[in-house]
Amino acid sequence: MLFRRFLFTPSKITNDILQLPTHELLQQLGYVKQASSGVLHWLPLGLKTLRNIEGIIRRRMDESGAHEVSLSSLSQRSLWETTGRWSNTELFKLKDAKKKDYCLVPTCEEEITWLMNSYLTSYKDLPIIAYQITRKYRDELRPRGGLLRGREFLMKDAYSFHLNSEDAVSTFERVNATYDKIFTDIGVPFVSAVADSGDIGGDLSKEYHFIHESGEDTLFRCNSCEAVSNIEKCGSYPVESKEYLGDVSVKYALNEENDTLVCLYYPASRHLNWNLALEAVDNDLEPQTRYMTNEEVLAKFTENYDPMFNGIIRVMDVRLNSRSNFPDFPLKSYLKNNFAQLNDYSIVDVEEGEICAQCEEGELESAKSIEVGHTFYLGKKYSKALNATFRQQDNSDVVMEMGCYGIGVSRLIGAIAQVTRDPKGLRWPSSVSPYKVSVCASDKSVDQLNKVKALLDYKPYTDFDAKTSIGAKIQQSHALGIPIAIVVGPKSWPNVEIEVRGNFRSKNWETSYEKLHSQLGWEYNQESGKHFVLHENANDVVNILLKDL
Ligand SMILES: [Zn+2]
Repeated sequence: MLFRRFLFTPSKITNDILQLPTHELLQQLGYVKQASSGVLHWLPLGLKTLRNIEGIIRRRMDESGAHEVSLSSLSQRSLWETTGRWSNTELFKLKDAKKKDYCLVPTCEEEITWLMNSYLTSYKDLPIIAYQITRKYRDELRPRGGLLRGREFLMKDAYSFHLNSEDAVSTFERVNATYDKIFTDIGVPFVSAVADSGDIGGDLSKEYHFIHESGEDTLFRCNSCEAVSNIEKCGSYPVESKEYLGDVSVKYALNEENDTLVCLYYPASRHLNWNLALEAVDNDLEPQTRYMTNEEVLAKFTENYDPMFNGIIRVMDVRLNSRSNFPDFPLKSYLKNNFAQLNDYSIVDVEEGEICAQCEEGELESAKSIEVGHTFYLGKKYSKALNATFRQQDNSDVVMEMGCYGIGVSRLIGAIAQVTRDPKGLRWPSSVSPYKVSVCASDKSVDQLNKVKALLDYKPYTDFDAKTSIGAKIQQSHALGIPIAIVVGPKSWPNVEIEVRGNFRSKNWETSYEKLHSQLGWEYNQESGKHFVLHENANDVVNILLKDL
């Protein structure tokens, strides 16, 4: 007796299903099932898709020389206290029977640094990069539907360890090259947004996005130098130097030593950009002062204020000029020698159509996007806190440099589904599709169906309800997003029909068609977009088409 196969996917796909938001569509079609808010179970189709994406990532990471590991999901409190991250409210915390604290890891800088530090001793052991593809946890207060932001998710995280910053930065570049290959293999158009502080002591980071109107992120792209940046990192200049006569807002902050007051001035109609402000002052801002009110910052600064020793820095957004309407300066006494003014910095969020600060020529255009990957040069942020050192040639101990690199694997499935779906349902690229091909046969064509199945290189999807019509089977195959459907019916036999559901990334198949169509008995009907071929040759045609899908 055969096991029942079509348990999770409805045999009839209705229009109501096809109009659902993507996270519900994935549930209705039998990819995943929501267990509770932000928590999903993976069903056979979803798991196959997940495995395909993991396979692409694993192949490219292994090829780059990274070592695969798999760390425990449980992590002890002490490590997180050392790095100051135990207080993070999104950390999933739990206690064992002896009341000892643990968390379910959201990321593994702490554990991997501890792990590697117990093996890495000499400069000869470096550089090294380790990665894993494991479940991660985040105690989201308001998890979003489905795969894009869950409380449990699958992530590929990689960590690299280095002798010095030059080596760490060159590995950062190499991992980005690997990411380009991974996202090219996946086959969905992507952009990488560069964020370079320009200072080796600062943080280098790069994000990978799919452009889509439903995205939560906003990217800006320069129409001249083509640089792409997240709004959080996008410097801009006003279109023309207009006299800004409007009100000026100020945000007070302190430097890291807490001995200098930093006054950030910007047009009141605009939104201050903390990252750009950081760049203006060489990253020397006390992070906490970002969230303090101006009164609180001033109170802290004036506690022990001494005009002889304490400095004041005024940072002016490029849009301001001396005729702008500035607020009163709060301190009456200060020494000219301890006072500095930085002019013409861009410290507000960019607006559509402003000038690119990188090339100073192009206009910046915005696009909504979904972030799917992120790479960071970390410097010594974690290795210093966790005292991860190695011994140099001269026998002195030095703190390692680090980088970390993430790809949201389960998030990628949600993102790919979202950006490729259309009114007929999902539309996977063949690289990730749970099946590359389906065979839809009428119930009178069982022998022919088996003949075609036996000829194919790829195991086809055939888990249809036998009682449904051939049209319903084709519709189901299309809704599931399978790139190619082979239709087997008594009328056309010994020919079969091939319907392409996928999105052509290239049209190389047309050259093959010119060369091979008479030899293979392959006819392409331009009007219907369908292919007809002798069933013995269906596998050849499927393989030719799949290369473009
Ligand atoms: Zn530009």
